[in-house]
Amino acid sequence: MSTTIRGSEKLPSLPAGPRGLLIDGKFVDAADGATMHVYNPATGEAQAEVAVGGKEDVDRAVKSARRAFEGAWRQATPSSRGKILWRVADLIEQHAEELALIETLDNGKPLAESRGDHAFAAECFRYYAGSATKIDGRHVVPSLPGEWHTYTRREPLGVVGQIVPWNFPLMLAAWKIAPALATGNTIVLKPAEQTPLSTLRLGELFLEAGLPAGVLNIVNGYGEVAGEAIAAHGGIDKVAFTGSAQTGRAILRAAAGNLKKVSLELGGKSPNVVFADADLTAAAQGSAAAIFSHMGEVCIAGSRLYVEQNVFDEVVGEIAEEAKHLKIGAGTDPDTRLGPLVSESHLDRVTGYIEEGVASGARPLTGGKRFGDRGYFVEPTVLVDVEPDSRVVREEIFGPVLVARPFKDPAELAFEANNTRYGLAAGVWTRDLSKAHRVAAAMQAGMVFINTYGAIDPALPFGGFKESGWGRELGPEALDQYTEAKTVVVAL
Ligand code: NAD
Repeated sequence: MSTTIRGSEKLPSLPAGPRGLLIDGKFVDAADGATMHVYNPATGEAQAEVAVGGKEDVDRAVKSARRAFEGAWRQATPSSRGKILWRVADLIEQHAEELALIETLDNGKPLAESRGDHAFAAECFRYYAGSATKIDGRHVVPSLPGEWHTYTRREPLGVVGQIVPWNFPLMLAAWKIAPALATGNTIVLKPAEQTPLSTLRLGELFLEAGLPAGVLNIVNGYGEVAGEAIAAHGGIDKVAFTGSAQTGRAILRAAAGNLKKVSLELGGKSPNVVFADADLTAAAQGSAAAIFSHMGEVCIAGSRLYVEQNVFDEVVGEIAEEAKHLKIGAGTDPDTRLGPLVSESHLDRVTGYIEEGVASGARPLTGGKRFGDRGYFVEPTVLVDVEPDSRVVREEIFGPVLVARPFKDPAELAFEANNTRYGLAAGVWTRDLSKAHRVAAAMQAGMVFINTYGAIDPALPFGGFKESGWGRELGPEALDQYTEAKTVVVAL
């Protein structure tokens, strides 16, 4: 019997928008005319046809970006760069509902989450709009004999390649575009092939905001073709990538040709720790949100839960209850809390992990399988009785699947929490301040959240230890990722 997915019978139609590649200030067809379908993950049906770029298109985009870097963008004052970023933030807000609908139809996430992502994107553009006029160097006094005037300058890298994943399409594009443009670089950006639509619309808003042709080029395309062409291109000075660790390695290899700079935001398997002295209701709710929001397709998801043994059943039981009541449906239905996963292959991957975990002895307190038979929905799942060495505990599932383990001793906890090749984020729930800060210091993670989980802001650096990445996005740190330091030494 076919299950009707709430809200998927009468989906709103996809707003019109650009479907070509943005190269040199115009939306154009791919050089070879290739196109691809974009699917609605709530139904599995094709909803748009977009151009799909290859090596030649990346090359055209790089040439255009280079001309813009040497020309219009180099002549633009910091203030005028900042003004364009600010205008784009305003335009995102003016088109908030349209952009949210595009994102939800393309990625699947509930409309409220798309709206939140885009509000963050607008704030990110505003944050870096303010930075454009504050890129400066230092006057340095050397101890050499004689008289000197020495100073440093911070200069843009040139043409940067940016490769974005499908889980936060417009927001993660904003994290990359904003600091790169604020510092005077030009861009060739590739959205994920599953979710190009909001990024293409963003490109159109940039043109409306007055961005000169060629400063931002958007080449939709497959990772192994357009992505690889960006990573390998000799005319690109840096590549910034967000995605899986496996692709991160492929990008590093491709980037070795011209030794371009590389920054990587990769995956995670982040530990979230609840001590018995925490506000347990807040901890259970926060821990549920840490894994179930955005369908768990979040690199910083709190996907490994460690709860002090004497409150384990209570906390994990509450999280499972919360999961049972999450409304699953099309993201366009206002009551939906959990939308579909992004694609059929991702659904297979996530359900495959759950099945393997259960086969190896894990017990689902709730969830455990696909939801319905149309679209790519999966039940929010809580697994207990999991072995520390099992794949569900060690590998990133990237779906609404929580693995929970009890702990007794804080030293043993720190060892287990850090016993992973990843190091993106960690959560700690306790009322004991000293304990909170001690555990925060012990966690090998780029971000530690205490009595909250996943709070992000444009001013706060974001990135990972160990195999979770190289470099940081957001905050002033991102400006360093898009500039070179030049030292000027003058003998007076
Ligand atoms: P993915 O690495 O396959 O794809 C991400 C992007 O890389 C896409 O645009 C894709 O087209 C491109 N790509 C794929 N192969 C490529 C290649 N050989 N050369 C160049 N580009 C290539 O990742 P995915 O499976 O689509 O996305 C989920 C993964 O991304 C998860 O592992 C998740 O943890 C990670 N992620 C990390 C962050 C972060 O900030 N650290 C954020 C979002 C997602």
